[in-house]
Amino acid sequence: MAVKKIRKIGDPVLREKSKIVENIDRALLSLVEDMIDTVSDENISGVGLAAPQVGVLKRVIIVNLGDKFEGYINPEIEILGKRTSTEDEGCLSIYSVKSEVKRPNKILFKAKNLKNQDVRIEAEGIAARIFLHEVDHLDGILFIDHLKPEERKNFLSKITRNNIL
Ligand SMILES: [Zn+2]
Repeated sequence: MAVKKIRKIGDPVLREKSKIVENIDRALLSLVEDMIDTVSDENISGVGLAAPQVGVLKRVIIVNLGDKFEGYINPEIEILGKRTSTEDEGCLSIYSVKSEVKRPNKILFKAKNLKNQDVRIEAEGIAARIFLHEVDHLDGILFIDHLKPEERKNFLSKITRNNIL
């Protein structure tokens, strides 16, 4: 059990591309446990976390769609349909400042679970948003990258104004 430090915006590790996981071994399972411990820590609340957010550049995410976190390895996303949805979004790496983000409304999520079995989840709305957000982290993308340039500028100045950075 270990609670890791969550990397914050400005940390270059959040902008790197994560590597494919070749083996689901003891070290990988322990990374997933640490990620779950980190988001379950009493001061932190989140519905998902990606490995780069604890400084590890591996294609691993954890997501909680119900009452517990599940770990997913080498996730991929297929967008279903053309509908989009716009909702407030936040990120543990971007403090508590939220912003509206437009994303595809429906996706097919594909990954391996921790037992190395194939997982396929058709997700819509908030669930789709969570998967899209976490998989973005594996490619060095933060939700602010989806904002229009003007919105992004305002958002970043809001963070700076509040002396968060
Ligand atoms: Zn995030």
